[in-house]
Amino acid sequence: MMINLSQNRNLKLFKLISGIAAQHNQSVYIVGGYVRDLLMKRQAPTDIDFVTEGNGITLAQAVAKEINPNQKVSVFRNYGTAMFRHHGLDLEFVGARKESYAENSRKPSVETGSLEDDQKRRDFTINALAISLNQDAFGELIDPFGGITDIQNKILRTPLEPSQTYSDDPLRMMRAIRFAATLNFSIEDRSLQAIKKEAARISIVSMERVMVEFNKMMLSEKPSIGLKLMEQTGLLQLIIPELTALRGIEEVEGQTHKDNFWHTLEVVDNISRNTDKLWLRWAALLHDIGKAPTKKFVEGTGWTFHGHEFLGSKMVKQLFQRLKLPLGYDLRYVQKMVKLSSRPIALIDDGTSDAALRRLLFDAGEDLEDLFTLCKADITTKNSHKQAKFKKNFEYVALKIKEVEEKDHIRNFQPPISGEEIMGLFNLKPGREIGILKEKVKEAILEGEIANDKTEARTFVIREAATLGLEPSP
Ligand code: ATP
Ligand code: MG
Repeated sequence: MMINLSQNRNLKLFKLISGIAAQHNQSVYIVGGYVRDLLMKRQAPTDIDFVTEGNGITLAQAVAKEINPNQKVSVFRNYGTAMFRHHGLDLEFVGARKESYAENSRKPSVETGSLEDDQKRRDFTINALAISLNQDAFGELIDPFGGITDIQNKILRTPLEPSQTYSDDPLRMMRAIRFAATLNFSIEDRSLQAIKKEAARISIVSMERVMVEFNKMMLSEKPSIGLKLMEQTGLLQLIIPELTALRGIEEVEGQTHKDNFWHTLEVVDNISRNTDKLWLRWAALLHDIGKAPTKKFVEGTGWTFHGHEFLGSKMVKQLFQRLKLPLGYDLRYVQKMVKLSSRPIALIDDGTSDAALRRLLFDAGEDLEDLFTLCKADITTKNSHKQAKFKKNFEYVALKIKEVEEKDHIRNFQPPISGEEIMGLFNLKPGREIGILKEKVKEAILEGEIANDKTEARTFVIREAATLGLEPSP
């Protein structure tokens, strides 16, 4: 089959590479994701992989030099690859190779090979398609494993025997699930069985690489597709057991609670319709993890999960450390979301004081909208009457919060009186009293005892300081 590249936006580049490869007496092909996405008419790609029968590094260098004599090329000699950026695309060149794997390592021993050898070492038939850039066959599609049919049937199959493929490089199990989620493909049954069998070998893969695939899955349109596959194959239990611990429904004295695992998947799908923020999706994924360790049946009350948000936010930290996720701002954001995830619901009651609203504003700060997005996604009742009621309740809380915010400006709270001003007022050196007084001012404002205003804060500080035995300096 011929692929018409004449309208392709990269035609000039492809022709250039074709010509240079011919001068070097090397064959060259486009392979991998670019070919797959081209045939599936998916969005513009960010990288293009080229494979050559011969030396990939020298070909990359020759092409780069032709485009721009000063172009820097990154060379990875161990892998026989080289790459450079061109018009916002990562162009990667590799010499065709043949791989064989040892039992306890993801690092294969590598020999040079033919195009077909190289296609065989690829993870899925749809990723093993190649388009020739050779002058006598420019645009010819080379599909030795039926990748085209698999695209039509929306199925992921491995070119070689599945168990061997996944055992050789267990990261491929995560890639299978990631592609199933992002492309909305099914995984061939033989592959699914093989993943179940080989799941435990995921432990030899670095967590960073597992998370690259996991996060791509989390950013897909409907992450539950991937999460369900992970659950079904046993990978989720191995990677995030805090989530599988939420599975199941218990009954005591005829009272049941919902299955918090399935509930969580629904919340993640719901939120994914409203946000592309990776860490907000993570917050949805983890918002209930404190429920498994806090679950208790209380006589007369029923099932309780007392303090699950607080414990959950602590668990988030250990989980981020173990999964090698970023430990700075993103961690604190997810912890905050988990900790606050039930607060807006608690405010629905009409009798809620302004103080409670001010405290939520203070605690959520600039992330208040995200918190509401999470709370709305958390509504998973199938009863449409209840759905509508819950949503209306939220709008009511949002409105009340807006009123309080306009009045008191708590959202990005800046103390109306600074530590320096307090020191000046009493002629004090830095010390314990300053912190105590600042905290008292904040509390008084949140409780509504004084307004968020300099004059009131000053009068308040002078009064409070007296109880500490301090007098204003003349
Ligand atoms: P994406 O759209 O995410 O870039 P991709 O298929 O291009 O998808 P890459 O990670 O860029 O994925 O890898 C490029 C190609 O390299 C793949 O299409 C596949 O042929 C091959 N490949 C990548 N990782 C593996 C692996 N672990 N095992 C076998 N082949 C792999
Ligand atoms: Mg790619």
